[in-house]
Amino acid sequence: MKNSTRLFYILSIFMFISCSNDDSNDGNTIPGNNLNLGASAHDLLSNDIFSTMEIEVVYPNGFKPQSESLENLEQFILSRTNKTEVTISPREISLENEGPYTIDQIRSIEDDLRTSFNTENKISVFIFFANGARQSDEGTSNTLGTAYQNTSMVIFQETINNLSNAVGAPNKVIIETATLTHEFGHLFGLVGIGSEQQNEHEDPNAEAHCTTEDCLMRAEVEFSSGIMGMFGNGIPDLGAECLLDLRANGGR
Ligand SMILES: [Zn+2]
Ligand SMILES: [Zn+2]
Repeated sequence: MKNSTRLFYILSIFMFISCSNDDSNDGNTIPGNNLNLGASAHDLLSNDIFSTMEIEVVYPNGFKPQSESLENLEQFILSRTNKTEVTISPREISLENEGPYTIDQIRSIEDDLRTSFNTENKISVFIFFANGARQSDEGTSNTLGTAYQNTSMVIFQETINNLSNAVGAPNKVIIETATLTHEFGHLFGLVGIGSEQQNEHEDPNAEAHCTTEDCLMRAEVEFSSGIMGMFGNGIPDLGAECLLDLRANGGR
């Protein structure tokens, strides 16, 4: 009797596991927010799975982005993707951490703070405006932003604050908008990291960046040292080759 009871118990567990597996196989699996950079390029650009986008923006006191920069970002996304609606929700957070930050530290801050994730119709993006610089920075080549995961980016707002206070610097809205849209270009899979290149235009000296003159995806847009020359004519836009790649991957 003992043996048959045990057999029943084991069979029950087996059946439970089988049913659990069936459940996960027949439902529509929503892609997650914890994938490699570029993995959601098509899902961000097209409306195959997600028709809308929600952007969760968090910043500590003193590091709030200009609202005009967020409006520019919304327009950029609406003009380049097939989303019907983009919602940007900024909120102030309290944070004990201080920079400079490694990307691993940024990831763990995201783990603590992120509340918005993909749902059935909505793809979610997380943006942290950091109260510090990027750890690896040296000299004047300071990083302004980094897209580090399929739907996550950090903007090094302390670096942008310092830069925009410098004599002769472009105004803050221009620097923020250029940094936000450049990093979104990486989420969109540019260059060659999720949106296939229609023609070869990746910079051999700067991975995932573009060779087209004055393109938003030039490597120098990401660094304060390159900013002065790059933004003389206002916010850079995507060049023809980058636009081709986006259109071929569900964008417009
Ligand atoms: Zn870049
Ligand atoms: Zn380009």
